[in-house]
Amino acid sequence: MSTAPTNPTSATQPASHPAPLLRYAPPETAKARRQPIIVIICGLVSTALTLLALHFVQEHVNTDIMSFSIRFIPFGALIVGLLAALGYSIAAYVLNVRVQGWLIWTILILLGWSYFAAHYVEFAAQGPLVEKATNKQLGFWRYYHLTTIHMTREKNSSRYGPRDPNPTIEEVGDTGYLYRGLGIAGFILGGIGVPLVQRKIPYCPLCQRYMKTKTLLKLPATAKLASFKLGKHKLDTPEHKAAFEHAMNVLQHATTALRTGDIAGLRTDISAHQARVPGKVPVFGVMRLVYCQQCFQGTYTTELVNNGNYQTGLAQQLAKGDLDPSIVQPVVDGSLPLPPPISAETSSMTA
Ligand SMILES: [Zn+2]
Repeated sequence: MSTAPTNPTSATQPASHPAPLLRYAPPETAKARRQPIIVIICGLVSTALTLLALHFVQEHVNTDIMSFSIRFIPFGALIVGLLAALGYSIAAYVLNVRVQGWLIWTILILLGWSYFAAHYVEFAAQGPLVEKATNKQLGFWRYYHLTTIHMTREKNSSRYGPRDPNPTIEEVGDTGYLYRGLGIAGFILGGIGVPLVQRKIPYCPLCQRYMKTKTLLKLPATAKLASFKLGKHKLDTPEHKAAFEHAMNVLQHATTALRTGDIAGLRTDISAHQARVPGKVPVFGVMRLVYCQQCFQGTYTTELVNNGNYQTGLAQQLAKGDLDPSIVQPVVDGSLPLPPPISAETSSMTA
């Protein structure tokens, strides 16, 4: 925000809000140490259930789901992997276990292991197998090789157009390894996809838990357009300008109120100006708070955001800064008494 004070050296706190020397940190308990193991167990269970379900579905469909690819993108395996690894992500979120590099590597290795374990179970469930040509009992890797090269596909199935009513079935031969490779890669990539996204969720290292995001204020920053049509829209009509100026004033006022701990003023701004953003409004203004539910440390961001698929040059961050727990707590919990506002000059912030 243009008029927001930007003085990084004003770190002095007012007397009524002394900077605490020591923050609360939870002791490391045996329970906290056990949690990563529970995450891994939950992941292994969801993987086993998914592969078991795959086995039963596979008996009813002709296509090998794990090898189902379109233009070498193994969609089938990606989805199976995603479902198989959901247990890791859900347990990590519920137990507030941070998804770090080691956990992602562990998931990756366990997914690879699970893939072959599932094939081994399938192999073992068929009892001892004997190869006709040699009359020798079949080992697992030989079994895996034979099932790979004897996978079948419809001849010319990659062609576009109506399906052949009597397709010629051909064996894939060594190309089977390509499909298997795509399947393994898709399975593992699909599995680590969600944890990789989860890694970006804000986390409070102090309390060792995931932080929450709360939208404090949202309102249109331009007028409505006549259509959803994308492309260049002139946003310089009086209606757009009026809406833009209104939004900027409200955002600036509300951001200042939040930053200075004027919770009553902030609530007034929210109840007076919070507005629905219709789909045909290309840009909206939003003030969000990311905070820890336990220690109430938080960070606010005020920004202009492109709505839906609109692309405008207006989208930008207007303000961002850290907030003291004494401000965050009454903002997220309306039942708490209001703290005395702190003066803007002495509060530390960055814009
Ligand atoms: Zn915290």
